[in-house]
Amino acid sequence: MHVTSRRSATWRSTTSRLMALTAAGSTLLALGSLAPASAVHPRADGSTTACLTPDAAAPDVAFAARGGHGTDHRAVPTAEQRRIEARTDAILDRQGTRARKKAKALAASVPVYVHVMAGSDGEGDVSDSQITQQIAVLNQTYSGSESADAAVTDFSFSLAGVDRFYNDTWHVDGASESYRAQTRQGGANALNIWLVDFDYLGVATFPWDYSADGDIDGIRVNYASLPGGSATSYNLGKTATHEAGHWFGLYHTFQGGCGAQNDGVSDTPAQSAPTNGCPVGADICASAGLDPIHNYMDYSYDDCYDQFTPGQSNRMSQMWNAYRA
Ligand SMILES: [Zn+2]
Repeated sequence: MHVTSRRSATWRSTTSRLMALTAAGSTLLALGSLAPASAVHPRADGSTTACLTPDAAAPDVAFAARGGHGTDHRAVPTAEQRRIEARTDAILDRQGTRARKKAKALAASVPVYVHVMAGSDGEGDVSDSQITQQIAVLNQTYSGSESADAAVTDFSFSLAGVDRFYNDTWHVDGASESYRAQTRQGGANALNIWLVDFDYLGVATFPWDYSADGDIDGIRVNYASLPGGSATSYNLGKTATHEAGHWFGLYHTFQGGCGAQNDGVSDTPAQSAPTNGCPVGADICASAGLDPIHNYMDYSYDDCYDQFTPGQSNRMSQMWNAYRA
């Protein structure tokens, strides 16, 4: 799959607009002690191929995308999902936390490392203010403050470092595994966010892959999706919320379609397909409950999103204990 093969005409026009806006006058600042202003690495890996398929060298690495303009390029097959759940259950059994539920709540502060993968012309060099706003959105969405029905999760986020690179290959997510391995910071508990320009709104790794592929662990997010970005209907910063949900171990609400196993969370009604927009009252599956269009793990517009469920919150805490604590 060529990186640009799924880019729609609409998407191209939004990114082109952003390129025009950011090519001139963008600031080249770095935040934090881990991100000196000299952290500029044009073409650091020497690659001349700009269109490598993400994760092509490790097709068994689970990842998931918030397409926004198409379906996932890799859903998790049911058999693999069962293996993952069984492995997680065994780990939690050994830890003795299986019955923990909310009775032994975490209060984890997640350090966040933001890697701005700008082009050599400065495209995608988002402002420090946008990054600060993005962290605020993560805290807002994971604290359940957008809806009375939203779960208050056990997670908060603090910016641990920002670095900026000006590399035309990395900017379009080329040599993806290489640049992630070269730039990732922190341990299993650290959320690394790479801001790139690619076909997707975002792509995430799952926590159960950390032990084998920790060097590329984290989420890749389209820079145009940050608060104030140019991705119309997807520029309130909720893509990072969605991708972090995968990083914590959540599936899409439409995982498994109308089947019984679904997304492994009992309080997200089954859903046969991703939502586009915000179709209030949609109810595709015969099973109980309307489609969870307001759930961060659907594909709805950013302004339609307002919640994780208590079941999702509990799953994230269990996954944290199993793989990231
Ligand atoms: Zn997703």
